[in-house]
Amino acid sequence: MPDRFELEFDAGDQREHTCACCDARSHTVWGFVYEHGEAAAVYLVYASEGHPHAWMSVAWGGWGPRAGREQKRCVYLEVGPGRTEPTLSSNIPGVRHDADALGIELSPALAEHLRPQWAAVAEYVRARDLRVQRVLGTLAP
Ligand SMILES: [Zn+2]
Repeated sequence: MPDRFELEFDAGDQREHTCACCDARSHTVWGFVYEHGEAAAVYLVYASEGHPHAWMSVAWGGWGPRAGREQKRCVYLEVGPGRTEPTLSSNIPGVRHDADALGIELSPALAEHLRPQWAAVAEYVRARDLRVQRVLGTLAP
């Protein structure tokens, strides 16, 4: 049986930079998730060597200009290393929420309510995107 999800990203879908809040070396990777062959979500992982954990944003409800901003939903999560469950977080430090690209940033209460819509995606990305595992590996354990 094929996986429920599939990841898609290009070699260029990653960036090394300095953290906007602490100037530490930082890594961002991003990609797209398909569910049963349909566009499902876009994700981004941000790991800064100046922070003990990384952030993951998961936005669903489509992407690109055809998907309206009102249909998209986004959550920010704190992820690894040494964490088994992602926890809800506020935005990545120094990064402005791009509502056109990512849609509405959910309140913690609503995000918790919609956990089934993003938790499986976040888990799949963490388990299957080797780039995410590599950038999480740059953080102190
Ligand atoms: Zn920082």
